[in-house]
Amino acid sequence: MAESSDLEPRLRGLPAVSAVLGRPRVAALAAAHGQAAVTGAVRAALSDARAAILAGREAAVSDDDVIARVGRAHAGTLRPVLNATGVVVHTNLGRAPLAAQAIAAMAEVAGGYATLEYDLDRGARGERSIHATALLRELTGAEDALVVNNNAAAVMLVLAALAVGRDVVVSRGELVEIGGGFRIPDVLRQSGARLVEVGTTNRTHPADYAGAIDEGTALLMKVHRSNFAILGFTSEVALADLAALGRARGVPVVYDAGSGALRETEAQEPTVRSFVDAGADVVTFSGDKLLGGPQAGVIVGTRALVERMRRHPLNRALRPDKTCLAALTATLRLWRDAPEQIPVVRMIAEKVEALEVRASALVAAARARGVVAEVVPSIARVGGGAAPTRELASRAVRVQTHDADALSAALRAGSPPVVARIEEGAVLLDLRTIAAEDDARLGDALAVAAVHAGR
Ligand SMILES: *Cc1c(COP(=O)(O)O)cnc(C)c1O
Repeated sequence: MAESSDLEPRLRGLPAVSAVLGRPRVAALAAAHGQAAVTGAVRAALSDARAAILAGREAAVSDDDVIARVGRAHAGTLRPVLNATGVVVHTNLGRAPLAAQAIAAMAEVAGGYATLEYDLDRGARGERSIHATALLRELTGAEDALVVNNNAAAVMLVLAALAVGRDVVVSRGELVEIGGGFRIPDVLRQSGARLVEVGTTNRTHPADYAGAIDEGTALLMKVHRSNFAILGFTSEVALADLAALGRARGVPVVYDAGSGALRETEAQEPTVRSFVDAGADVVTFSGDKLLGGPQAGVIVGTRALVERMRRHPLNRALRPDKTCLAALTATLRLWRDAPEQIPVVRMIAEKVEALEVRASALVAAARARGVVAEVVPSIARVGGGAAPTRELASRAVRVQTHDADALSAALRAGSPPVVARIEEGAVLLDLRTIAAEDDARLGDALAVAAVHAGR
């Protein structure tokens, strides 16, 4: 710790706000960003410099520092990043990157008016959900469909519309927490339905459900375990068997499927159609997990049950906007016509040989810029609560560094920010979640970050 007598002159040595504002490169910033933003950045830079000096470190206020601060403030907090984690559906990073067709469809309706709730043929009020309904029926085989804001909302609406004040039977092995505070028992309570738990954590049998059914039973519910697996001495009741029981006893069966694959994919999750075929009366799933579309919740099911949800007052509070419906509809069209053009589907299916080639090119480019790196095998994940045990063989660029945390922080501070993985003291950039057209930007970001992190 420096003596306070040393600190005084060093603090006094810092420039005044007005002096920094007067520097040509700083003054030039005001034209684009406004004087207030530049002054704020200068004050923040000086305040950090003062704190650094008091902590016994060297500090100065450079033009570059002020420019970077103004840039960060201008960029705001919701920013695009490169996802080098290898987790394809990364909830914290916004889940599904949209297909070009979905982005175009959003843009087409965003800037003007649209037929969101308007029937051009009749010249009268139309229905919001119909834009996706026909495709959802075609892709899943269900009689009817309804779109809401997310799958949590879908589950909430199903329970509120079909089970308020009545019992919903769920296996103890499926009382899951999805993350972000979504817990099946809590959602059930919130909806006004009553939870009836059956079976045990590892084993639930048809007789457990059958024994729980009485006049108060509104629904039999099955929940995709999403983010974990139960191994060993286990047994669960297949959806088809539960559906048969429900039909025999006159109780509808609801399946919260979570991720919503609409065709077979490399994620190896069963399709929504297979759940409808198995006899589920209602199936709910996310628009932005395996489906690879915008944040949305999809409810498909029998005409009578979906109609009850459509009429429920909560539906009004959960309805999606025009850009969501545009992107969802475009994504559904791709599931029908060209699923390989959906980024999530493509990333999950990408051959490891292709990733190896790209990783090698990145390593060569990094080495040419003095960054020591190598290609290593990596395990990528589907993420987003789909196929929790499925490992996707991948390739990563492993960067040699004496301080993985510092390099990782420098990557996050870059432009574009890169979110990497740290494993065994090294920084790993997994290529499975990087679009090939972003490889050059990733290489540049790595080279810059390596310099900032001191290699
Ligand atoms: C992810 C998930 C949800 C919540 O879906 P959101 O789209 O995140 O609202 C609900 N149930 C299951 C089984 C899930 O996997």
